[in-house]
Amino acid sequence: MARWSVRIDPPWSLQAWRDAARLALRHAVAPEQLDWLHGEEASLLDAPSLQGTDAEAGAPHDAPTYVAKVFVELAATCLCHRDPQRLSLLYRMLWRIAHGERSLLSNPTDPDVLRAMALSQAVRRDSHKMKAFVRFREVPGQQDAFIAWFEPEHHIVDRVAPFFARRFAGMRWAILTPGRSAHWDGQALSFGPGGRQSDAPTEDAREELWRTYYANIFNPARLNTRMMQQEMPAKYWKHLPEATLLPQLVRDAGDRVQEMHDRQAQAPRRRIPVPATGAPAVTDTAPATLGALRDAASACRRCPLWEPATQTVFGEGPPNASIMLVGEQPGDSEDLSGHPFVGPAGQLLDRALRELGIERSALYLTNAVKHFRFERRGKRRIHSKPQLTHVNACRPWLMGEIEKVRPQVIVCLGATAATAVFGAGFNLMANHGRWHVLDDATRAFATVHPSWVLRQTGDEAPGNAYQLLKNDLQQLVEIKPTR
Ligand code: SF4
Repeated sequence: MARWSVRIDPPWSLQAWRDAARLALRHAVAPEQLDWLHGEEASLLDAPSLQGTDAEAGAPHDAPTYVAKVFVELAATCLCHRDPQRLSLLYRMLWRIAHGERSLLSNPTDPDVLRAMALSQAVRRDSHKMKAFVRFREVPGQQDAFIAWFEPEHHIVDRVAPFFARRFAGMRWAILTPGRSAHWDGQALSFGPGGRQSDAPTEDAREELWRTYYANIFNPARLNTRMMQQEMPAKYWKHLPEATLLPQLVRDAGDRVQEMHDRQAQAPRRRIPVPATGAPAVTDTAPATLGALRDAASACRRCPLWEPATQTVFGEGPPNASIMLVGEQPGDSEDLSGHPFVGPAGQLLDRALRELGIERSALYLTNAVKHFRFERRGKRRIHSKPQLTHVNACRPWLMGEIEKVRPQVIVCLGATAATAVFGAGFNLMANHGRWHVLDDATRAFATVHPSWVLRQTGDEAPGNAYQLLKNDLQQLVEIKPTR
């Protein structure tokens, strides 16, 4: 039986594996005839290479093999695993699919499928840990330059680095790991060889700030040490500034929860209405001030929207504002700037407020959902309406803002905001501009979202829609903007 070899560089590259696998398939090289090599590895049986030989140039079977996208995605993830057998495992699966087992992946008891799933899951878990536990430290003497040290279990740096590029687009950073490094210069991502831990700064001035922040948002009532150890394995602790606080926070948790209960008994809270479908309301265990609430929301992971978005866009305005405007979610401009209502819809709202003589700076402006939900089309990010699950997940932040600001009047801009405040099933067009009294006596009404006005087309519809928005907002004119 003839033996062949193929070399993959880097060994986690989907493109490199794909090219080699296609080549082997075209030459009808069975999985047991093929040695998969990477780096400087040599074939044990001295098998000649399929690549760069006559065999590559004169491929006998040029018919392409089509595989389902799900297999390609599985392969991309598995390739990042350190298991040296993954290359041949994937090729064996591809071979089987190409030779008639088209529904191989639908068989969850197949040993190859089971193994591939396990590898993929381990890589996903490692990627998640990297996203959660990388901590950047400022490079002394350089402005806005940061380095983080991390020790992943698998080859995940190339896979996860784009996440950090999106998230920290405005700073220059590098992530060093023992085998690979990623660099972002503010515009482009590049990769290089691994580094040493001593190449990364160990501490910067922000660590103390971070520890103070962490101690403030640490919620002893939610402490679950078993879950904490599962989610934050001890090997990551040495890189986390907050790790030094944890033993004390855990020791004090019981007393702090008791204190909370005592406080709650002495000072009954203002009741915030929560619709039947709602997520839990913000409780007294939540951050004590609007600023602390904002800080806590900036690290929110209550729903998947945080991941592709740039940042949490929290509400803005005087903390004693009488009027709170609630929109749907941040748009593209808001996501990039971190401020609500700064894009085209915000500018239309500004115009309406200006024409009504209402000072925008006196209002508290926020959104029902704090992260931008979008779909990518080429280079563009197209707004995608948040689902009820996102609204419910995000409601505690909105309710926290309402609780801290205590506005006299809430205006819901659009159906999503109305759902968040009044509950699912609110008919916006039948009820716009009509006053309602919430359970805690706050008055509220809903009107159309300025982005809906912008979407109207034709000769008259845009003007009519704008007038509808303005007529509803007119009701705010008599209200003293701050208390
Ligand atoms: S959208 Fe809201 S709930 Fe979801 S992650 Fe963002 S802040 Fe958290």
